[in-house]
Amino acid sequence: MAVDVLDLTYAIGLEVQRDVPLGPYTSLKIGGPADFFTRARGAAELVRCLDAAQRLGVPWLLVGGGSNMLVSDRGFRGLAIKIERPAHMRRHSAKVLEETATGVRLRCDAGISTPGLARWTASLGWTGLEWACGIPGTIGGAAVGNAGAYGGDMAGLIERVRAWFPDGERVLDASEMAYGYRTSRFKRSAEPAAILSVDLRLAAGSSDEAIERIAAYETQRRAKQPAERSCGSVFKNPPGDFSGRLIETAGLKGTAVGDAQISEKHGNFFVNRGSARAADVIALTRLARARAQDVHGVRLEIEILLAGDWPAEEVKDL
Ligand SMILES: Cc1cc2nc3c(=O)[nH]c(=O)nc-3n(C[C@H](O)[C@H](O)[C@H](O)COP(=O)(O)OP(=O)(O)OC[C@H]3O[C@@H](n4cnc5c(N)ncnc54)[C@H](O)[C@@H]3O)c2cc1C
Repeated sequence: MAVDVLDLTYAIGLEVQRDVPLGPYTSLKIGGPADFFTRARGAAELVRCLDAAQRLGVPWLLVGGGSNMLVSDRGFRGLAIKIERPAHMRRHSAKVLEETATGVRLRCDAGISTPGLARWTASLGWTGLEWACGIPGTIGGAAVGNAGAYGGDMAGLIERVRAWFPDGERVLDASEMAYGYRTSRFKRSAEPAAILSVDLRLAAGSSDEAIERIAAYETQRRAKQPAERSCGSVFKNPPGDFSGRLIETAGLKGTAVGDAQISEKHGNFFVNRGSARAADVIALTRLARARAQDVHGVRLEIEILLAGDWPAEEVKDL
């Protein structure tokens, strides 16, 4: 039975739209349409979306901030679920589970903004998340990719995660997350699952110092990273080196395919100069990887997630 927009709307109990371009929901502003699109504001709505999609046999794609994904020009055949903060929640805040003289335990809904949370916690003198002030997207997306910067990462702060699985919800301890460098059990997993909330432990400290650290990180980012539309680092850093350095010294800074360009400022950031297509970004990715292999003998591993309906030959080996 073919599912239509009304079936999904009734099954979820939220507005579902048809043929919605996904580009605007990604930081690269690239990507074709999803057959169906809805917004889940908070864990309860997200569970309703996932339960309904599963019941109706509709494939689904989770979109947090869309800052670590490249969506195919062909879009996505199924239901794209944009994860947002719960409607009742103040911007960037989280639930305090426990506060002691040494620190705080917070429950963060998957859809809250990572940089917003970093600022909010710093302003309250809860320290440990300052490194995340310049990482766009949601805390759920950060937990999936073990986002990190300046020596910190999500794996270092997460106590546990509540997640949806096809057979029900489960709480996973950090030790069950299979965390590694920019990866977790949820990244590129064949197992359909979604992070609903994340419990973090932060230390008690000085808000002035935390805010100063944030200002210093922001200055560093502005100096090194492009301001144009991008999806952050395209490749993981190989052990002991930097993908950006390898791409730059292979002479590729500024190289463009269509409107996709290897940033003049940072070799591992690919930017959309206007109307880049996903196929252009893929062509640039292949070029950078081939050149790094030829010049440096290093095989770069892709960090961003390729989402949607890709022609098999376009994403072969990536
Ligand atoms: C300018 C810029 C700078 C960046 N700097 C850094 C950096 O310093 N360090 C770093 O690590 N990253 C960096 N990134 C990459 C990116 O911001 C992070 O990886 C971020 O944590 C991704 O979160 P998101 O919500 O945007 O995830 P999305 O891109 O929306 O999703 C990423 C993947 O996770 C899945 N997903 C999203 N939410 C959930 C959920 N709740 N449950 C299960 N799966 C989910 C998606 O389906 C997708 O497969 C940068 C990106 C940009 C654009």
